[in-house]
Amino acid sequence: MLDLHVHLLGHEDREANRETIRAFLDEASKRGLKEIGFADHDYYWDQMNFPLIREVAKDYPNLAVRIGFEAEYRPKDEERIKHLIEQFPFDFVIGSVHEINGWAFDIPEEEHKHRQKEADELYRDYFDIVTRAARSGLFTTIGHFDLIKVFGVRPMSDILGLADEALTTVAEHGLVLEVNTNGRYKPVREFYPEQRLMQEIQRRGINFTLGSDAHCAEVVGRDIDEATQLLRRMGVRSVVGFANLDKINYSLD
Ligand SMILES: [Zn+2]
Ligand SMILES: [Zn+2]
Repeated sequence: MLDLHVHLLGHEDREANRETIRAFLDEASKRGLKEIGFADHDYYWDQMNFPLIREVAKDYPNLAVRIGFEAEYRPKDEERIKHLIEQFPFDFVIGSVHEINGWAFDIPEEEHKHRQKEADELYRDYFDIVTRAARSGLFTTIGHFDLIKVFGVRPMSDILGLADEALTTVAEHGLVLEVNTNGRYKPVREFYPEQRLMQEIQRRGINFTLGSDAHCAEVVGRDIDEATQLLRRMGVRSVVGFANLDKINYSLD
């Protein structure tokens, strides 16, 4: 299967060199992945080394090695992100919202603030920015679609209502949503997005991709088999990878 969301640099935990790239590609091969996608955070741009990834990938003929990045989407940053996308022939670009009006909401130090706010408002503010990310036309993929649940705070009203406009925009723009398995290792302890959203995503004909959000080689591909089984049980027939910003279908049959 695929893992289209791994962080070679982690959070500045290592550099991009032959050895670190190999560690990720070895683990992907060991786990039997067909495709792996590097998606480091754009704030480490200067430490990325895309040509070196391409070069090392030549030693792995049975593994499709894709290159993208995970952009921090802020509405005022669209020009900045557009400029980054133009710097390299990327295979995919993930747009992610980890910030609401300058508030980096997904870091552990901020958990208490989630409980001080009205939950529906929190979700509305979050999905409003996700909708703008989807509308921007910059991305192939929206990262961890319901990240706002990271600390287990749930909305009072129906999640399908709160996410409706974001889902509509994702569908209109042909964007792909990932099953991001990393949520299981956060306080919320479940994949992104939650199962009810997954069913709605399928109902609307939006394509899925898969990602572990691994920040180190050891967890590349973590729970991807389980996520694949889950999609299969829901009746999803294929998932999507990317080359040159074009979708590539992988059958789940
Ligand atoms: Zn992220
Ligand atoms: Zn990530």
